Amino acid sequence: LKANDVENMDGKLVELIDGMARTIHNTYSAIGLAAPQIGESLRLSVIDLSMGENKDDLLVLINPEILESDGNEVGDEGCLSFPGITMSVNRAAKIFLKNFDLNGKEIRKEIDGFLARVIQHEMDHLDGTLIIDRVSALKRQFVKKEIKRLQKNGEW
Ligand code: ZN
Repeated sequence: LKANDVENMDGKLVELIDGMARTIHNTYSAIGLAAPQIGESLRLSVIDLSMGENKDDLLVLINPEILESDGNEVGDEGCLSFPGITMSVNRAAKIFLKNFDLNGKEIRKEIDGFLARVIQHEMDHLDGTLIIDRVSALKRQFVKKEIKRLQKNGEW
């Protein structure tokens, strides 16, 4: 399910972004949260690789688009939608990102490394794709079993 474009860069949006930033800062080892994860169908995500340590590290994705991508890299990813579970996911190594700031100004930037991975992960959420959709059927089965086990123990 595709989330809707952000139309209004208003006070309500700023409040939502603040709330999302607080959520990741208050959640152990969380580095990103997409609006659809909290029931808001918006192409919006908040990323902070510093986990609240560095204010300048807060990256807000508003109607992001990947214009170009290059290379491939497999790496471990976790997700607030799958607490305590990591999965190896194949992503583009480098992306050319189109994004908007809170003033509606378009920003284009080349990004690589871990941040490129996190952005692709967050953008998946905007299209209703989860990491479990990006792993092999075998791994998916294993993860589902693991979730069942954690649920049984009341850890999920
Ligand atoms: Zn996620």
